[in-house]
This record gives sequence, structure tokens and C-alpha cells, in this order.
Amino acid sequence: MLKYLVILLDDTATSFCHYAVSKTEKRPIAPETLRNGILFAMKENLNVQFVYPDYALPAEYETIVESIDHVKIVSSHCESSDLKKAADIVVFNGWDDMENFAWNSEKAYVLRTPKAELFERCDTLKTLLGKAGRLNVVITDVETFTETDFEKYKRALASLSESIEKRYIDGQAPQLNVLTDRMMLEAMNNCNAGDEVITLAPDGRVYVCPAFYYEQAYSIGSPTDGTDIKNPQLYKLAYAPICRHCDAYQCKRCVWLNRKTTLEVNTPSHEQCVTAHLERNESRRLLGNIRKVGQFMPETDIPETDYLDPFDNHDKW
Ligand code: SF4
Repeated sequence: MLKYLVILLDDTATSFCHYAVSKTEKRPIAPETLRNGILFAMKENLNVQFVYPDYALPAEYETIVESIDHVKIVSSHCESSDLKKAADIVVFNGWDDMENFAWNSEKAYVLRTPKAELFERCDTLKTLLGKAGRLNVVITDVETFTETDFEKYKRALASLSESIEKRYIDGQAPQLNVLTDRMMLEAMNNCNAGDEVITLAPDGRVYVCPAFYYEQAYSIGSPTDGTDIKNPQLYKLAYAPICRHCDAYQCKRCVWLNRKTTLEVNTPSHEQCVTAHLERNESRRLLGNIRKVGQFMPETDIPETDYLDPFDNHDKW
């Protein structure tokens, strides 16, 4: 069932996930389309998330945006400091702004980073854990991971995990998506684009997610004509032949990455699965270590496994 509508306010609205924004020309969504999108969300009872560009939109837009409860997603490069303060989620497209940013410990942040920089700058990330309410790391080139990268990612996760453990012992509870989410989850918590989340783009069309818009993939309707997803079951976990057997509950299960790497929206790549399992396994170790020092943690069970790609375990399904 649909629950969320993401609205891109401009063709250059920041990415907050794996995809890159391929458009460079400013093109704000038409005010009429924006109003129709809001009306559609109201009728369908959807939570709205507005994604902003880095330049200031005309005042008329703020009036329309404020006509509905919503979440604001804003980049750290946004020209408007008021908007950055008002944002519910601030996105760092790279590491440049992070050290001198005015962090708010109540707020959620997204760091979009290539793998190589994450491996190199892991120590910087540790210092930021105490500054954010929540930090989501999104690796922008997951599909290029090699065996050597898996080893480097494993080491980076172990190092971050040690830092999180120390903070727990000090009475803090930092949230880092790739390590702490799995400790709290008892079921899949994926992106769910095309199933629970859809996106309205500045061209007035609705897409499975922003990546499908920027990659010029198929549209699934419009706010005025309604939506019609072909083979909607393919976006559901129950019809994902590998993922439905998996317990890397924190995995994004990104349908756009699936389509890009395997040509099937419900079939993940080896790289997506192994990175998610390295996270899952380090979360398991972290959970055990925090429990050992007597800190209260949820009853989550993360069993030991002997595979990193669920496909390698398919004979036991
Ligand atoms: S790790 Fe692989 S199988 Fe598991 S949810 Fe993620 S993409 Fe699906």
C-alpha cells in the first residue's frame, strides 16, 4: 500500500540516495503540478517529502509547500541557511561541508559518498557520530565493489563499530544506518519504492523513485490521472525471490540498483547483497559487545550465518 509521496521541487533537487542527479538546468515544478501533487497526497492519505534544489525557489512555492504536513530534504550546499535550519533531513553530497557544518543533534543527515572516500575518511565519520541525531551513509558506487573493496568495507565497519560501542558504554545511543539499524529491526525495513513510496517529478509525471525519472525510465502515471504500476507485485518483498529469504533487514533493497545491475527490479546484485551482509554481520558483533558490557538492548536475534550472498545459500530455502 502506498504511504509516501516524494516531490522533487526542481530538476536539480538534491539526490538523497544512490542515484545521481543527471539534470543541471534549473526547472522548478509548475505551481499547478505542485498543487495537484499535494491534492493527490491528501486524497491517497500519503506522507509528503519535498526535495529542494540548492537555489531559492520563489516565495509562492513556500506558500504551497506549507499547505500540507511534510518532511523537507535539503542539501548542505543549499543557498538558503533558513531552509537548512528548517530541513528535517540534510544531505551531504560529499565530505566538504561536514566538518564545519552547524550540526543539530536532533536532526537526521545523509552522507552520499563514493566507497574510496568512505574507506579513507572513516575516522572523520567517527567524530560526527555524536553530532547527528542520525547519520545515513549512502555509498554511491555500490555496484563497483570488488573483493578488495569488500575487505576494506569490512575493516571500515569494524572501526566504526568500535567507536559506536564506546559511545554506548558512555551512555550515548548514536544512530548510523549501516550498523545500528539492524540491531533494532525484527523485519525488513527497505526503501520500498514502487510499493510504499512513489515520486512526483517536475515534468508532472509520477515515477517509481527519483532515479527512474533521472534515468528516463517509465512513468507510472500523474497526480491527475492516477497511477498504474505494471506488474506491481514485482516491487513487493514477497515477490523478490532472493530478498524474501534474507535477514539483512537494514538493506535498502534498491529496486533501481537491481534494475541497473540485473535488469530485474526484484533481483539484487551480488555487490548489494555482500555489502548489506557485511553490515549485518558487524551489527551482530556490535550488538553482542554492547550486551556484554551490560547495556540494555532490544531482544533482536541476529543469527550467525556462513554466507555473504543469500543466493549462495539457496539450497537451504
Ligand atoms: S542483502 Fe541482498 S537479498 Fe538481502 S535484502 Fe539486501 S538485496 Fe535483498
